[in-house]
Amino acid sequence: MIVAIDGPAGAGKSTVARALAERLGFRYLDTGAMYRAVTWLAMQRGLDLGNAKVLADLARTEPVTFDEDDRVWIAGTDVTSLIRRENIDRMVPVVARHEPVREIMRERQRQLGRDGNVVIEGRDIGTVVAPKAEVKVYLTADRSIRAQRRMAERPGIGADALATDLRKRDSSDADRMQPAEDAHEIDTTNLKVEDVVEQIEALVRERTAV
Ligand code: C5P
Repeated sequence: MIVAIDGPAGAGKSTVARALAERLGFRYLDTGAMYRAVTWLAMQRGLDLGNAKVLADLARTEPVTFDEDDRVWIAGTDVTSLIRRENIDRMVPVVARHEPVREIMRERQRQLGRDGNVVIEGRDIGTVVAPKAEVKVYLTADRSIRAQRRMAERPGIGADALATDLRKRDSSDADRMQPAEDAHEIDTTNLKVEDVVEQIEALVRERTAV
């Protein structure tokens, strides 16, 4: 079974998806981490982030992998913390908007999600990567709350800079952020993580009972 969890930055996807996977004994796949890792490597190598072909070649030849502790690797480097920095936050959408890059990433995401039960989080999982996912959820939250959550994860960045970054990222991600028509939309603004996890778990159980 595939559980697809999509939504904008700061809506709570990672926290919820991880907790849900643990609770259900499903694997967890973070597709945002994959785009982040390729962006990190492209910047590290000084590549032109406007060049779709060069970036697609990079994504093809340097696949992102996850180890058993869910650490993120690319080109022999553990980039788990390196990809959570502000410079990567800013540049990922620039890399992720190239269709040839997306095609390679999506193919790899489908392979990684192929066997067994998995929770996959991203932006286009329920719509493009796994349109047949048994359970689809789209998480949202007010932008001010999303900015506050990000602030907790990125101490040291001013509130204004963070809000501006979030707004920019929202608008450049917008064409990939549409909910699937059959997705259950959950507004997490006033909800606790456990409540969101429980709601999704109930959807999974419903589906398993069918
Ligand atoms: O979810 P996270 O904030 O880690 O995603 C980082 C960026 O990767 C997003 O802002 C978006 O540009 C890109 N992304 C994407 N498609 C996905 C997952 C992430 O374009 N499925």
